Amino acid sequence: MSNIECDLVADLLPVYIDGKASAASKKFIEEHIKTCQDCRDIYEAMTADMQLPKPEKRKRRFKIPSLLKILLGVLGYLVFVIVLIVIINYILMNGVF
Ligand SMILES: [Zn+2]
Repeated sequence: MSNIECDLVADLLPVYIDGKASAASKKFIEEHIKTCQDCRDIYEAMTADMQLPKPEKRKRRFKIPSLLKILLGVLGYLVFVIVLIVIINYILMNGVF
């Protein structure tokens, strides 16, 4: 692992991630990443940054269903409370003791 190779990989990574690297550069980067943890970390950090906007879009899509889930949760809670009140009323009216 030489520093020159790492510098080269760091320079080429954006091009490689864009899919615009030449076949030789691609091969060089892939071979280097296999053996160099530092450059693999850089590569993974760069690709992770690129993948970030996608989950954000997904979150936006699920905003309404998650709101529905909260509403359903509140409704479920209300039903639970009403049932509890009915049971307590029944016990009070009929007397358990
Ligand atoms: Zn390296």
